[in-house]
Amino acid sequence: MSQFWSPGVHRLTPYTPGEQPRQKLIKLNTNENPWPPAPGVERVLRHFESEQLRRYPDPEATALREALAREYSVDVSQVFVGNGSDEVLALAFQAFFLHDAPLLMPEISYSFYPVYCRLYGIGPRTIPLNEQWQVDLEGFEGEHAGIVFANPNAPTGHGHERADIRRLLERMRERVVLIDEAYADFGGESAVPLIEEHPNLLVTGTFSKSRSLAGLRIGFAIGSRELIEGLDRVKDSFNSYPLDMLAIEAGVAALADRDHFEHCRRAVMATRDHTRQALEAMGFEVLPSQTNFLLVRATRQPAAEIFAALREEYGILVRHFNTDQLRDFLRISIGSEDEMQALIEALGEIGAG
Ligand SMILES: *Cc1c(COP(=O)(O)O)cnc(C)c1O
Repeated sequence: MSQFWSPGVHRLTPYTPGEQPRQKLIKLNTNENPWPPAPGVERVLRHFESEQLRRYPDPEATALREALAREYSVDVSQVFVGNGSDEVLALAFQAFFLHDAPLLMPEISYSFYPVYCRLYGIGPRTIPLNEQWQVDLEGFEGEHAGIVFANPNAPTGHGHERADIRRLLERMRERVVLIDEAYADFGGESAVPLIEEHPNLLVTGTFSKSRSLAGLRIGFAIGSRELIEGLDRVKDSFNSYPLDMLAIEAGVAALADRDHFEHCRRAVMATRDHTRQALEAMGFEVLPSQTNFLLVRATRQPAAEIFAALREEYGILVRHFNTDQLRDFLRISIGSEDEMQALIEALGEIGAG
């Protein structure tokens, strides 16, 4: 607490990101991609002339928005970009969810959503997951300021099909439905094709996971012109240049290399499926996943002990959420085949399962 802070700053509960360790650990805790970015990104960085940095970047990041528009078969006016999808989400909460009714969200989803709620004074109403640990779309009902969830969901891994999302949108037309597709490239079905019929649908995405560019901070949103205009109004009241020149150019290069993208996401999905089999053979319960992580329930040992042993004795970092519902689980990001092999061996030695 400080006398210099604005009222309310002491009441915020900031998001705690997964640790970024200094020592060399096997890092399976923040869902980064084990594959390098597309080779074209390297070329952009190598040939970038620092002299250009005298100038401000394009405030509209037009080149990147055009590339995204081609990628998703939408018009450039339906694309918004920001400094990571976390920023895009923050702007969207402010642009769409400040109404006199609760914001509906799953009880277990991306833990940044409640943080934005505190920041903006939005009251959330959380809907429990169904018995299969899936987002309960039927549970979204009643008066509300909007709906937000991740699809596939985090940290559970399950994704609903587009047909399920369409049914939700047919019932919910009054407020914005924000679908966070941070993991959709790992086997989920994107809701972007529903945008034409549903002007209240906003889909967000990121280059951090499936494009191996977490360090560059590129996020985006796709939606009707009317929603994008709302986002632009908030963005231009906050920061006109959220993406720097390097991010814009490297983002375009990443999108241009479809073969690299396909190769990497398929490799991650294949490693995920081998890892699942190995973990199940050891006695872990593994939730179905359409993402680049697995949520794994320990049945013989407290998950917190496995987490600590992996870190202290093997230098392997996974994620443990110390909440009532997730205490028995570990969330394990999909690394390279070698990293996952090291994890399985370590778990075997610990006798975990
Ligand atoms: C990683 C993640 C994000 C944030 O992505 P950035 O673009 O790196 O800010 C957003 N939503 C979910 C569900 C995520 O897991």
